[in-house]
Amino acid sequence: MKFIDSKFVKKMNEITNELYRHGWDERNGGNISLRLTQSEIDQYEDLNTTLRNIPIKFDASPLAGQYYLVTGTGRYFKNVHKYPERDTGLVRITDEGNSVDLLWGFNDGGQPTSEFPAHLMTHISRQKVDNNQRVVMHCHPTNLVALSFTHKLDEASISRLLWKMQAESLVVFPEGVGIIPYMTPGTNEIGQETADKMNEFRVVVWPHHGVFACGDNMDEVYGLIETVEKACMIYTAVRSQGNILQSITDDDLRDLAKSFNVIPNPEFLSM
Ligand code: 13P
Ligand code: ZN
Repeated sequence: MKFIDSKFVKKMNEITNELYRHGWDERNGGNISLRLTQSEIDQYEDLNTTLRNIPIKFDASPLAGQYYLVTGTGRYFKNVHKYPERDTGLVRITDEGNSVDLLWGFNDGGQPTSEFPAHLMTHISRQKVDNNQRVVMHCHPTNLVALSFTHKLDEASISRLLWKMQAESLVVFPEGVGIIPYMTPGTNEIGQETADKMNEFRVVVWPHHGVFACGDNMDEVYGLIETVEKACMIYTAVRSQGNILQSITDDDLRDLAKSFNVIPNPEFLSM
């Protein structure tokens, strides 16, 4: 079987298209990385040769030998499903950790996303707390980015606000959301700051830019971002309608947590 026909490429095509259609990935905005296991790689006949070696500018040695299907830098999510072999690539992290071997894709000379440092550093952080960690997703959800201009950039305050905008929020992200300061995209520094937050959170807000999220599969991570952005969208609608007359209370959140068997971040809500 050829890798182009794999469920991994199909899922990448589907999710990049969904993100584009939501308007969260204008132009080349957004990027995704998906970890594949050795046994998954072994199922495909066309992944046996290194097409070329691509240097990376940070130390990914904790991930040596791991495989990632990743979107290319400068590629438009509206196009990925039409040209997956051009706009995505499958890479293996080399033993030295300072480059990746390309096994499939990027067939016009492309390279992994400029946010590869933040992706791989996040994979390193999350694999320490979750054996099934597979996906890192970055996009530019409109209402979330807007919120970073109008709301104090405080994790407790924004997490509690999002929990109270809809009943689903607390159930889907009981740990709340992490927030880093505004930083220059594509740098190792923003990667490290993001990865540090990922020790505690699965969603990290990049003010005035977008969001990073991670988890065990594409649907879960996409759903996480959808839920966060939906809460932000409700907040936008609420603010445009006028004053809030009633809302979900702290006691309502506690009942919700008990009912759905989740533990809210104790720094944001005492039980
Ligand atoms: P890439 O095109 O390099 O993936 O960058 C898009 C982006 O959203 C940067 O933050
Ligand atoms: Zn971005």
